[in-house]
Amino acid sequence: MNLEKPLIEVRDLYVNFYTYAGVVKAINGVTFTIHEGEKFCMVGETGCGKTVISRALTNIVPPPGRIAKGEIIYHRSNGEAVNILKLSNDELRKIRGKEISYIIQDPSSALDPLYQVGFQIGETMVDHGTVKDMKEAFSKAVKLLKNVLIPDPHKRVKNYPHELSGGQKQRAVISMGMSNVPRLLIADEPTSNLDVTVQAQLLELLKRLVEEGQLTLFLITHDMGVIAEMCDRVAVLYAGNIVELAPVDEIFKNPKHPYTIGLLKAVPNPQSNIERLEPIPGTIPNLINPPSGCRFHPRCPYVKDICREREPKLKEITHNHYVACWLYDRGVRA
Ligand code: SF4
Repeated sequence: MNLEKPLIEVRDLYVNFYTYAGVVKAINGVTFTIHEGEKFCMVGETGCGKTVISRALTNIVPPPGRIAKGEIIYHRSNGEAVNILKLSNDELRKIRGKEISYIIQDPSSALDPLYQVGFQIGETMVDHGTVKDMKEAFSKAVKLLKNVLIPDPHKRVKNYPHELSGGQKQRAVISMGMSNVPRLLIADEPTSNLDVTVQAQLLELLKRLVEEGQLTLFLITHDMGVIAEMCDRVAVLYAGNIVELAPVDEIFKNPKHPYTIGLLKAVPNPQSNIERLEPIPGTIPNLINPPSGCRFHPRCPYVKDICREREPKLKEITHNHYVACWLYDRGVRA
């Protein structure tokens, strides 16, 4: 795993949602770097902010959300570093769907029911100038569908989305995401709506495509099994904070943060040392009034006074292993 060349750096990111009920402090000072060629994953319960972060990477947080603070530094292939949050809409359009593309959870909402699948794959290539016209785009779409192992791609390219199965639709969406040969592919729970067998096939396919194409992958999931299969490094997100970040083997063999340990206890995983399945007690906090100090403290079995008073920062405790927890902060008696 080469962690020398950063592709995208998220620095001290804060995202709020301005609702009638109050300001939801969804992302609370998140910092991490995704490097060229790595498979970087983010894991956490539903509502912890994974999708919001993925949207922030190309400055498309939906309203009423707003990036309140932070920088997203993107390293172009020519070596230039730009802050995504300072780019104009025109400049962003050239990056979105071309250099950074998305595969979202629900293929039905990614595909327009009124257009043939081949047209939809082709349109994104024509828009970004990857092909010269729709004729070339259709023939490239056939190859892309073949590459994601859709049978009879010549016929399927002319199908409408409702004529494909759920697994085929998601394969078509993966084709669309790969069509402009992106540098970074963001996959947000790409298989969670599919049955287990199709899920395993698609993850294997995604891994092959990323490795063959030497792309960088940012995968978002709530499933530790998917993490074990797919990732080089993992960031564990809890209530808008990264609480632990480490290489995948390290997370499974040597988890440090009480929330990560809880996640591993809550799912069956052959790579984990943990023997008994136990759900994490309690629920994700209300982020309009998040808990003081460590946001995990109401659910943490090791909570001490300092945890309620001061927010722990993400710190490197051993090589490439970062944890935000007072238990590991040297010099502080937790
Ligand atoms: Fe638990 Fe305290 Fe660590 Fe938070 S900082 S995870 S409450 S021990």
